[in-house]
Amino acid sequence: MDDNNFVKIVKILETIYSETGRREEPFEILIHGIMSTRTKDTTTFPAQKRLLLIANTPEKISKMSVGRIERLIYPVGFYKTKAKLLKKACKFIIKNFDSNVPSNKNDLMEIPGVGPKVASLVLEWGFGMPYIAVDTHVNRVAQRIGLVPFGTKPEKTEEVMENILDDSTKISVNTTLIKFGRTICKPISPVCNNCPVYDYCGFKLKKKYYKLWASRVKH
Ligand code: SF4
Repeated sequence: MDDNNFVKIVKILETIYSETGRREEPFEILIHGIMSTRTKDTTTFPAQKRLLLIANTPEKISKMSVGRIERLIYPVGFYKTKAKLLKKACKFIIKNFDSNVPSNKNDLMEIPGVGPKVASLVLEWGFGMPYIAVDTHVNRVAQRIGLVPFGTKPEKTEEVMENILDDSTKISVNTTLIKFGRTICKPISPVCNNCPVYDYCGFKLKKKYYKLWASRVKH
């Protein structure tokens, strides 16, 4: 796909889905990121809320028992492992960063449970910095519209987007593509006949291969 074509698609979607100035507390984003792996947002968000209502600082979470954290975040996937990770992450932040979530990627990735995707998410959503968090929705849309080949790893998709988008678009592209991926370019049965970027998308031309693609690609 031509780079300009991708920028055009993102700009169109941005006008529909982007929330400019969207910022949340970096600590809340970090907690969300650690809990979200292999779990649907509809499960992660309520669990995150339950935990943060009771303990919204690294100190408070680090003082809770693992069992209590488990009960609060259940039924998040791998909740037992994640409860331990959340406690470890909070202790690490207290010890190494004076209880503040760091605002650079290398420091973030030292925190237990934080990989490149969560680190980018914290920088993008929490600090408003031009990092691109490529989750399953973002990666699927990037593949379908033809930006990257099917089967591309999120890290590679992030690298490709990094080189094409300007800083202000990098800050909003995650939110834009997640919303678009949840409502129109859905994992199963994308709503192509109601898609605002239909004219620019390569996937619609290949719908007859959809079943084959769906059976091979992890959504
Ligand atoms: S035309 Fe279909 S596959 Fe392409 S971006 Fe739109 S919804 Fe997704």
